[in-house]
Amino acid sequence: MQQRHIYLEDTYHFTVLTKVVDAGSSELGNWLTLQDNIFHPQGGGQPSDVGTVDEAPVRPFKAPASEEHVVRLSCDRPFAVGDEVTSAVDPEARRLHAALHTCGHVVDGFVRELGFRHRVSNHFPGQARIEFDAGQDKPDLQQLAATVEERTQQAIEADRKVYACDRGDLRIIGIDGLHEDPCGGTHVGSLGQLTGFSLRSVKVKGGVLKVGYVVEHA
Ligand SMILES: [Zn+2]
Repeated sequence: MQQRHIYLEDTYHFTVLTKVVDAGSSELGNWLTLQDNIFHPQGGGQPSDVGTVDEAPVRPFKAPASEEHVVRLSCDRPFAVGDEVTSAVDPEARRLHAALHTCGHVVDGFVRELGFRHRVSNHFPGQARIEFDAGQDKPDLQQLAATVEERTQQAIEADRKVYACDRGDLRIIGIDGLHEDPCGGTHVGSLGQLTGFSLRSVKVKGGVLKVGYVVEHA
């Protein structure tokens, strides 16, 4: 089936009237698939959205591999194929996740500019951090933190644009003048929508440079 993923088109599209196109149950409970999907499932270091279908709480998850690119919703109550429903994503969680994720790209870009290789990203609230190979030399962490914090702050003040485009099968996310990366997450439209940014920790452990940060949606 071809499911429309609204969350990839517009971070701020919070509700949609749509149809149940598949439904079932497993040992984990009931699930349903909607024609138009506004929920980001957990992946790429970003937590899953939360929200409702006809006011019943739901949680998105990726469908089995046989249904590539399909997002299902788990739910306490059952739905039937053909039901017309209103689906809504929690706007506060969506905004916060988009801010944390976008800021992660920026921090990642500026640390990479200093010559470190990216390992993994975590954009979860309260624990957001990007990890890099620390390299052979012991980096001057105070200097690194000051540089990355200053450049990120300047990029936010300059309100740099965040854009998405498709290259072949890949969805590319770019930040004006910084870098592009394949990414399936949700992002703000421009960096001026970020507020309260700071680095919360910069440390090296076991050859891994960990750069933790905080940010909110303006
Ligand atoms: Zn991203």
